[in-house]
Amino acid sequence: MLNIDILTLFSEMFSGPFDHSMIKRAREQLLIVLNIIDIRDFSDNKHNTVDDTPYGGGAGMLMSPQPIFKAVEWVREHRGTLGRCVYLSPDGEPLTQSLAEELSRESQLTLICGHYEGIDQRVRDELVTDEITIGDYVLTGGELPAMVLVDTVARLVPGVLGESSSAEEDSFSEGLLEYPQYTRPRVYQGLEVPEVLLNGHHEQIRLWRRRCSLLHTLERRPEILESAELTQEDKIILKQVVLDLEKLGLPEDIGRKKRKNS
Ligand code: SAM
Repeated sequence: MLNIDILTLFSEMFSGPFDHSMIKRAREQLLIVLNIIDIRDFSDNKHNTVDDTPYGGGAGMLMSPQPIFKAVEWVREHRGTLGRCVYLSPDGEPLTQSLAEELSRESQLTLICGHYEGIDQRVRDELVTDEITIGDYVLTGGELPAMVLVDTVARLVPGVLGESSSAEEDSFSEGLLEYPQYTRPRVYQGLEVPEVLLNGHHEQIRLWRRRCSLLHTLERRPEILESAELTQEDKIILKQVVLDLEKLGLPEDIGRKKRKNS
C-alpha cells in the first residue's frame, strides 16, 4: 500500500482526477491512499494568511514557511514518517518513468504543491528530499504536477493495473517508445491493420513490434536510444532499420515530433 499526503492551498482542485477508472479502483482496494491536506488549516496567523512578499523585493508573493512546516509535522506525527518529501518545482529533477517506478516502491510520499512565486527556501532546505518537475514550462501551481506524478506513480503500484494490462510494454518502461497498436475493425475507412498482426504467428509479431519500437524511438527520441538497454537482437534490428532508412534517405526531421494533417 502506498500512502500519499498532498499539501496544497487549493484542495478542491483534487476532486475529480482520482475519482475515476483505475485510480478510483486502486483507492477502493486500498492499494493507494490519498490524503489532501489544506496548508491553510495550519496557519498560526489570525487571518489564516499563508503568503507574504519576498525579502529583498521582487514581484509576487511567496508561500510562508510556518504553515508548511506545521502541516509537514502533522504528517510526520500521524504517519510515523514523511517518506520521500517531494516539492513540485520547475527547477527540479525531471519526472521520468524510472523515477516513477522508484517512487511506486515507497510506502509513504508527502507532496508539497507550491503556488504564487513558490515557497520559502527554508522549507526546501529543511524538509524536502526530492524536487521534481513535470517539464520545462511554468504552471500557476504545483497541483497539476502533483496529479500527474500521482497518476504516473499509482499505476505502477503492484495490483493497480490488474492482470489484463501491463506497464512493462508501455513507452519508456524498457527505455524505448511503444510500437503501434490496432483494434477492430480490420479495415476502417480503407485503412488496413498490418497483415503481420493478423496471422497469429507470435514470433513474427514480436519481431515486428520490436522493430517498430526501435524505429519509432529512433525517429522521435534518438537520444533515449543511447541509454536504452539493447539486446544483441535489438542491435541487429536497429542496424537493419538504419540501413533501410539510409536507402530511403534519412528524413531531415529525424528526432522531431510529427506535425502533419494541418
Ligand atoms: N517562481 C518559480 C520559478 O521561477 O521557478 C515558479 C513558481 S510557479 C508560478 C508556482 C508553483 O507551481 C511552483 O512553486 C511549483 O510548485 C509549481 N510548478 C510550476 N511549474 C511547475 C513544473 N513545471 N513542474 C512542477 N511544478 C511546477
